[in-house]
Amino acid sequence: MNWHIVDYRMIWYTADDHIQHVEWQNSLRERFPELFPKYHVHILVARGWQLLIEELLTGIQLIVHERGIVVRVYRVQESALGGLWFRCVGADDMVQALIRGAASSALCVCERCGGPGKACLYKRWCKVLCDEHFFEWVEQMHQQQDEIAHRVRSL
Ligand SMILES: [Zn+2]
Repeated sequence: MNWHIVDYRMIWYTADDHIQHVEWQNSLRERFPELFPKYHVHILVARGWQLLIEELLTGIQLIVHERGIVVRVYRVQESALGGLWFRCVGADDMVQALIRGAASSALCVCERCGGPGKACLYKRWCKVLCDEHFFEWVEQMHQQQDEIAHRVRSL
């Protein structure tokens, strides 16, 4: 298998995932313009969690409209411990409850395919994955280690 490794956390897995991710990020800014500040916002989640994030943003936008509050989302990513890390300012109790709900749902959703997942630990990394994608991830980690070892040997 030929993996395109974008960064060490492998958020995007393949080149195609990376392109899809950029398009998805842009579509979020168009769909939820009030929730994002003008400058660059980091939204780094893999494909399996994208629906969950869209539902969360839709819920936040509804509350923003109903209650007339201002919420700005600054960072959305997978945390180092494998959970959803969602940072914003202006969140009232209802928005905070929505975020907590999404974060706890994310712990049961494979970040790669969106199917039922569970927290998986490999070496010092933790990710939420289904069984199939856990084995794939381990394979990717091995391949990446081989590539790094090869690069070090050729120095
Ligand atoms: Zn999966």
